[in-house]
Amino acid sequence: MALVVQKYGGSSVADIEKIKFVAKKVVDRKRKGDKLVVVVSAMGKTTDNLISLAKKIIPNPPEKELDLLLSTGEIVSVALLCMAIESYGQQAEGFPGYFAGIKTDTLHTKARIQKIEPSKILEQLKKDKIVVVAGFQGLSPEDSITTLGRGGSDLTAIAITGAIKADICEIYTDVKGVYSADPNRVKNAKLIPIISYDELLEMASSGAKVMQSRAVEFAKKYKIPFVVKSTFEDGEGTMVKEIELKEGAVVSSVSIDENQAKISIFRVPDKPGIAGKIFSALGQKGINVDMIVQNVGRDGFADISFTVNINDMEKTKDIVEKIAKEIGAEKVITDPDICKVSIIGIGMMNQPGVAGKMFNCLANSGINIEMISTSEIKISCVIRKKDGEKALIQLHKEFIENK
Ligand code: ASP
Ligand code: MG
Repeated sequence: MALVVQKYGGSSVADIEKIKFVAKKVVDRKRKGDKLVVVVSAMGKTTDNLISLAKKIIPNPPEKELDLLLSTGEIVSVALLCMAIESYGQQAEGFPGYFAGIKTDTLHTKARIQKIEPSKILEQLKKDKIVVVAGFQGLSPEDSITTLGRGGSDLTAIAITGAIKADICEIYTDVKGVYSADPNRVKNAKLIPIISYDELLEMASSGAKVMQSRAVEFAKKYKIPFVVKSTFEDGEGTMVKEIELKEGAVVSSVSIDENQAKISIFRVPDKPGIAGKIFSALGQKGINVDMIVQNVGRDGFADISFTVNINDMEKTKDIVEKIAKEIGAEKVITDPDICKVSIIGIGMMNQPGVAGKMFNCLANSGINIEMISTSEIKISCVIRKKDGEKALIQLHKEFIENK
């Protein structure tokens, strides 16, 4: 007998047929003798729809009320799943986040979990019930309902797993697990059986949409292993945990981020303090900068280029243009026609030559590299957006298929 936390995402409970399917799966598992806590997301696109309803009232909805509204999406799923479980003859107890003991701070729409008081969950498990918990929500110290950021049901599931010391957390979704590249774009993408928290985090920051990053960070911090698998198809899925360097692949995945834009500032005076001024101004406005490149200064001037999320491009341009005038830089140019391709793997930490191999691979496909950045387990290149697809396929061939 195991104590299991399962999470079903929005696509797994998108309609009544799917909710019944999930209920059946949960009931079968219970009958095998396991104890179950099931965390659910809102049905299908419910959260997006609720957001657009709110925006019809006011373009920038107040965050406290927005959270109250969004929290209803997950509660609908809880109620329906409980009914379905009971219709199959098992007892279920459904909890909104605030009854499940999920205590957060007051940062509405992106609240952080402060602690979990699992006594109510444990009580119902003792009564042999299947406990169904609304994902993505908690209660602030001011007794208002908060949400945990988009995709936050993952975090609910991981955090409950830690709080009740469950044996395993299973994240059910509409794909079979984590792939070596987006299977919709790379037809030879492979399912990865085991991957480290760090690789999954790097994948998320490189454009692969797998799981909420905050949930993975939480799992890493508290060493909570979890499995990502498909709701509707059988399979072992992908195990995510701490892994030893020698177990890790040199390159486990290849990804692409097409939501980046490049900003270049030309002829910036090459003096101490200038870069600090530019990037602290962006930081203050909450703009995340990804890659930064400064060329070698000549006759007292240098050019600086960096990338931001494409949605922040115009805002960034306004801020940077003001500073450029102040410091006497020549001009600012924005370029939305770029993308970032990355290779990720913990094994590259002790394997020389990976960067060279990546650059050669791109060169052999006639692709020019405009910017490069590296971490211990990732190498990223900014290239033209039109070359992105080809780069992704060629890098996957080089590092995953032919390795
Ligand atoms: N329903 C929320 C969202 O769409 C939370 C989740 O699905 O995890 O972001
Ligand atoms: Mg989701």
